[in-house]
Amino acid sequence: MHDLLLRNARPMAGESCDILIRHGKIAGLGSYRPEDGMAVEDGNGAIVVPGLIDAHTHLDKTTWGMPWHVNDRPAILQGRIDFERENRQEIGIDAHRQSMRHAIGLAANGASHIRSHVDIDTRHGLSLVEGVWRTRDALRDIIDIEIVAFPQSGVMVMPGTVDLLDEALRQGCEVLGGIDPCGIDRDPKGQLDILFALAVRHGVPIDIHLHEAADLGAFTMELIFERIRANGMEGKVAISHAFALGMNDYVRVGKLIEEIARLDVAILTTGAPSVNVPSIMRLKEAGVRVGGGCDGIRDTWGPWGQPDMLDRAKVIGMKNGLRTDQELAHVLNVVSKGGADVMRIDGYGLDVGCNADFTLLTGETLAHAVVDTAPRPLVVKNGRVVARKGKAIVEMP
Ligand SMILES: [Zn+2]
Repeated sequence: MHDLLLRNARPMAGESCDILIRHGKIAGLGSYRPEDGMAVEDGNGAIVVPGLIDAHTHLDKTTWGMPWHVNDRPAILQGRIDFERENRQEIGIDAHRQSMRHAIGLAANGASHIRSHVDIDTRHGLSLVEGVWRTRDALRDIIDIEIVAFPQSGVMVMPGTVDLLDEALRQGCEVLGGIDPCGIDRDPKGQLDILFALAVRHGVPIDIHLHEAADLGAFTMELIFERIRANGMEGKVAISHAFALGMNDYVRVGKLIEEIARLDVAILTTGAPSVNVPSIMRLKEAGVRVGGGCDGIRDTWGPWGQPDMLDRAKVIGMKNGLRTDQELAHVLNVVSKGGADVMRIDGYGLDVGCNADFTLLTGETLAHAVVDTAPRPLVVKNGRVVARKGKAIVEMP
């Protein structure tokens, strides 16, 4: 935990001030003189926002920093899952090394926290989770990593997976994942009953990948709502992607969103360009917690993406057709405070007493910063500088 005086920075693009940090916490905003021996940084009038949050990613999957992965396969969901599971070792996707690269990249670009789903299946057991755990320990002073025990290959279709999820939660994964209970498992009742029972037993939240679109996804959402009510898990469930909310039926989507708000379900979006996605402005109006994520970047699933939440804000903003400054400020909120609300991060923000986790952004306004996506001048975690001019203080392995 560190002391620091950041001079001349503009919180949320407002008036310039100094930010005084003591023991890794924000101790004051105003005008301060440096004390003897205190580290001082000049913000040069840049915007300062709380740390960016990647609330939906896959640290164990990227080929970042590896030779280019040639993808000549059709983009079918089940095919992508099977290919990755059967070939990741041969390709050389080492979960520890690759998660280090991915996480350091995110930190260099201003992120302070990550929620990463990590694959658990009967072929790899918990070995991929163990690799990301090593990364979490190694980067403890750089970025916080929360791990979702994620049954990427399905639950009911891969006997043995439930025991592995149970073990992963016992060993300390903070969140239980799930995936397309209809589309992948063909057994929504089976998967959801098991997931909710596991989550209740371990006292952890659930974050379910739901690619299922339109009526099928809406049906699965209704099954999820039933189980939230039955298990008293209001406020403890997130639905990632939630493509069904992008369906072209305004009234039906409205009813789903009402229930999502009532049960305090969080939605994670990546602004996936190739499918219909939930409207972040409509979810905002309903008071739903919404976070953003890079999802997989440059992996066997697809070539796109980079470890940068400001770049992701731009993708989400473009996908949502946002144009006004107010809307662009909101998309920045989705990849920062929105993600913190989903992950329930204590002490998040720029108020006195908050954790000194923040990033400087270049631009006149928040909207300008999102559109420009310029390298972050300075990133601070726990009161310590962890990146400068887009480069982290630690090297990628
Ligand atoms: Zn994902």
